[in-house]
Amino acid sequence: PRVVFSGIQPTGIPHLGNYLGALLNWVRLQQDAGPKDELIFSIVGWHALTLPQDPRELSRSRRDALAVLLSIGIDPKRSTLFHQDENPHHTELAWLFNCITPVGKLRRMTTWKSRLAVSRNANDESEVDESMLNAGLLTYPVLQAADILVYKATHVPVGEDQKQHLELARDIADTFNRTFKGKSRLFPLPEFVATPTRRVLSLKDPTSKMSKSAPDVQSRILLTDTAAQIKSKIRGAVTDSISGITYDPVSRPGAANLLTILAACTNEEPTEVAKRYANKGHGDLKADVVDAVENLLRKPRAEFERLRSEDAYLSEVAREGASKARARSEVTMQEIRKRVGLV
Ligand code: ATP
Repeated sequence: PRVVFSGIQPTGIPHLGNYLGALLNWVRLQQDAGPKDELIFSIVGWHALTLPQDPRELSRSRRDALAVLLSIGIDPKRSTLFHQDENPHHTELAWLFNCITPVGKLRRMTTWKSRLAVSRNANDESEVDESMLNAGLLTYPVLQAADILVYKATHVPVGEDQKQHLELARDIADTFNRTFKGKSRLFPLPEFVATPTRRVLSLKDPTSKMSKSAPDVQSRILLTDTAAQIKSKIRGAVTDSISGITYDPVSRPGAANLLTILAACTNEEPTEVAKRYANKGHGDLKADVVDAVENLLRKPRAEFERLRSEDAYLSEVAREGASKARARSEVTMQEIRKRVGLV
């Protein structure tokens, strides 16, 4: 049987990229799971602290994230749905993993390198200054490894951007297994589960991914956006001035992004969808993307609006989820403590 684990940060309402690139896949995995498969989905609060957060906003986002996951169809009776920060085993195991992970390996993560690149620009290209960055930004992939391995997860559905971190988690699992030998290897090597959808790009700058943190709110569609907001954002999406539509992610990234979104909504390949628009214009394509996205988000949005005021229910789901998660990881932690000698 499979043990599926994945997480999302409580850094604001999830956007269409999070939904098509990750969350929709969680719901599908839940639907397709066998009776013995386990599904564990987490809102990873400790990860959000790698960047400065306003405490009140973080607290709201944390609750909203739970409501969003319920509203898209994660069923707390079928899946373990919980806040990472309510299960201390994650940070405990992360400490142990920190102690068996070379710093050099963390410095090679592209997420870390891109942080350095940002500060290099800010520093007028003069020097790379690690002293400006907090240690959490370097070590959070280790915490991710702990998130996954504390449940001995075998399958991890995340976006393409997370692949390198999952490889690190496999590395850490393997290092642990070889360093602390027992009758059998303690950790499985977790596998990447790809989403059928390519990464969704910013509507304003189709060379970068759609992101919660980009300053331009018109660049992303939130799962809670109204029909009017969806329409205005897609109508304003950056495309090109070539007539006719073709799927060409390299030279026509804006149009390709709209085709990716439409194909994800209709469960087709972007190249297939493109054929229908060969003799049409960007206006026609955009009109259909507006309708498809609105259709996709209508139900979750209404459900989110209903759930977000159900305080008692949300607290109950969180409490039960955390207690299920803790009971599950307690078993792994006891085995780990025995292997390393902390008994
Ligand atoms: P953002 O930059 O938008 O804050 P993130 O990667 O920090 O995104 P997370 O909460 O860490 O957000 O990611 C949740 C999931 O969404 C991950 O599996 C990630 O791979 C996926 N994801 C994030 N952005 C996109 C995107 N533009 N297209 C597809 N998948 C995405």
